[in-house]
Amino acid sequence: MNARRQHQHRHADRPHRHHYDAEMLSVEDARARILGHFSQLASADVPLLDAIGLTLATDLIASIDVPPHDNSAMDGYALRSADITQASDSTPVQLPVNATVAAGDAPGATVQPGTAARIMTGAPVPIGADAVVPFEDTDELERTNSETGNATIGIKLAAERGDNIRPAGEDIQSGEVVLPAGTELTPGAIGVAASLGLTTAPAIRRPSVAIISTGDELIEPGQPVQHGKIYNSNAYSIAALTKSFGATPNIVGIAKDTVDSLVELLQRAMQSADMIVTSAGVSKGDYDVVKDVLARHGEIALWSVRMRPAKPLAFGTLNAPDGRKVPHLGLPGNPVSAAVAFEQFGLPAIRKMMGKPETRRPTVMATLDDPVYNHDGRRVYARVHVYATPDGDLRAASAGNQSSGAMTSMARANGLAICQHDVATMPAGAEVRVEMLGWPNDELLAAVLHNAN
Ligand code: AMP
Ligand code: MG
Repeated sequence: MNARRQHQHRHADRPHRHHYDAEMLSVEDARARILGHFSQLASADVPLLDAIGLTLATDLIASIDVPPHDNSAMDGYALRSADITQASDSTPVQLPVNATVAAGDAPGATVQPGTAARIMTGAPVPIGADAVVPFEDTDELERTNSETGNATIGIKLAAERGDNIRPAGEDIQSGEVVLPAGTELTPGAIGVAASLGLTTAPAIRRPSVAIISTGDELIEPGQPVQHGKIYNSNAYSIAALTKSFGATPNIVGIAKDTVDSLVELLQRAMQSADMIVTSAGVSKGDYDVVKDVLARHGEIALWSVRMRPAKPLAFGTLNAPDGRKVPHLGLPGNPVSAAVAFEQFGLPAIRKMMGKPETRRPTVMATLDDPVYNHDGRRVYARVHVYATPDGDLRAASAGNQSSGAMTSMARANGLAICQHDVATMPAGAEVRVEMLGWPNDELLAAVLHNAN
């Protein structure tokens, strides 16, 4: 006899009803309650390449000028603009070439009046020079081809002071706040930090999310198919979402539907997790295992959330051995329910830990190709594929089977169309708000911008 049957047997004399407040919470209320248990994580000096997507914890202040010295923006000749005011294509000004400076050479070369220095892009501009004339505006090519050498150069175009010179500090000046605290470390920001000579950035550290699947029916992908078993897909879809939200997933494993098994995995997870996510075991009939465990090791609330899919949701805190209270999000077991609930509740929690503003997914208005039905007064998140017509109108087609077990429609969807709880049916042709799961591709973006004008 498995643990679940034993359990039901023990309580056979009792009406089947859970002990928790059965109020239906709105998505917004559930989210607010959950977010109340999260705070921004501590900061650390994070190696630049590990810092992508993290939030800068303190102002980034420049300790040097970038670029550090005046340098050439072109391959060409550094000279004094006053020496070539008469230069033209037909009457080039001939200057002796007394030096060559390459990128990486130490600054300090000098250009005497009436002479030029051959200079490469990025090379320090010699003292005395105030402009660079690019090869294209000299007789460089003719000379190179005729192999007469570059002892003198013919300048064919006059230059202004400063032409093709990037002055020291043009981009960043020593002492300035280059990026303020709170900036997301995008690839561009990582480049700025590296240009200041940094190898790490002071960033709010990346959250670690422990993922536990529960269910006697589960086997890991990679194992041979077994009669009566299903593959543990939730761990992977939740881990993939976790990564895409910017946190680090840690797939802890599969717990059997027994107290001992779940406790064992939870204790392993608690050691390093900033958040523990479980899937399954919260729907009517079998959440008692999760409840018993969590009640013993922390505090838990079980809620019904007024949404479809993903009505049942558990949330609580677990007491870690070191005294920390680790937030626990108990997702429903159905694959789509788990993914949609993690979108609605896991994403904002991760953003908060990462010090990011609580922005929602971008939404667009689209016209439904297929109706959305609301059977029981919950907010429906329908899996849709949003596309643009040749006229630039946005349409939302059903992404397929809307069963909460049908993950293929989640894979085909690029958005969740929202039908509010008090709307029974949204017919084809109705305007619907769609929460986009990834920001639209170029085609969609073009249509959105077109519509905005
Ligand atoms: P439960 O919440 O335990 O009642 O599970 C609801 C449904 O989700 C059942 O059909 C389970 O077999 C399925 N399910 C539970 N956990 C997973 C998982 N990790 N991966 C895929 N399906 C799951
Ligand atoms: Mg189960």
